[in-house]
Amino acid sequence: VANGCEGEPMSAKDRVLLRSVPHLVIDGALAVAGAISADEVLFATDECDVRSGDALHEALAERPDIPRAGIHHEIVWVPSGYVTGQESALVHWLDGGVAKPTAALPRVTERGLRGRPTLVSNVETLAHAGLIARRDHRPRREAERAEDPGTVLVTLSGAVRQPAVYEIGHGYPLASLLRDAGGVTGEVAAFLVGGYAGGWIDAADLAQIRLDRMQLRRWGARFGPGIVVALSANACPVAESVRVAQWLAQQSAGQCGPCMYGLPAIADALTDVCQGRARADAMHRITRWVGQVGGRGACAHPDGAVGFVASALRVFAEDFEDHARYGICDGCERPGVLQIPGGARVRA
Ligand code: SF4
Repeated sequence: VANGCEGEPMSAKDRVLLRSVPHLVIDGALAVAGAISADEVLFATDECDVRSGDALHEALAERPDIPRAGIHHEIVWVPSGYVTGQESALVHWLDGGVAKPTAALPRVTERGLRGRPTLVSNVETLAHAGLIARRDHRPRREAERAEDPGTVLVTLSGAVRQPAVYEIGHGYPLASLLRDAGGVTGEVAAFLVGGYAGGWIDAADLAQIRLDRMQLRRWGARFGPGIVVALSANACPVAESVRVAQWLAQQSAGQCGPCMYGLPAIADALTDVCQGRARADAMHRITRWVGQVGGRGACAHPDGAVGFVASALRVFAEDFEDHARYGICDGCERPGVLQIPGGARVRA
């Protein structure tokens, strides 16, 4: 299964690959299918992302080599959602079930689609496989590091002059990426790294930030799907974080208690803080709940959500204190920087 569902709202890399180099993704999928003797390849795309599906459809029509290789292929349209692209949720849905993740064994690699061993790979991974299959794996010397070869895609957005998807070497300094993107458009308060399951990093640390999986742990962030958002100092970090926390709470697949009840309780309490109507001990309670939810769901969704909230509480501690005391600020009234599918807003 070539997974191009891209449930992270601030990510664009899968769409960019499917729309601009669909043949590379197809080459990778065929190479991987050949390596594991698969006779079927499904290309999973978000049902709302018609342009990517169309690009893939056109590219597949130009590939007589696929039927010749005896490989059945199909494009499948998957409902939009934050957890629907998760490996087990995707396989459940493709099998005619509900797109809910499960931690129950066996893994899909042992018994997946129609009971057969199933490999689910992100389209970025397949694009890399496509380069190898084409024997075009020459190092991009200007981008790669000898000790950690290979490149990754990063969707850079927010207060930068040229928001786009960039290909960088592992460990590339964030300051260099910002320079490549024409610089920032004004004062930046913080960077969201890793998307909505990632974390905020204070802009004061910019000089030390390298986009490297291990290094980012230092700040409680993660590389994840390669997302960096520069948050302008004019935006309200509390309103931004609370809006995302509310949306993440709504993305629970509704089958694990800590996720189903814990995330909405945290999001509602944060909303009360944002609007200055929280109980005096609200921040203490939120911090305690954040510590209780992690590690107790059938999938990693609640862990990512509380990781995001924990980073917001840490990086924007003073802003949360101000909101608890004085309520909404001027920045709360400005249009949101972090995108929420469907335009969900902070619950009143
Ligand atoms: S942890 Fe949440 S999102 Fe994951 S399976 Fe359980 S209820 Fe669904």
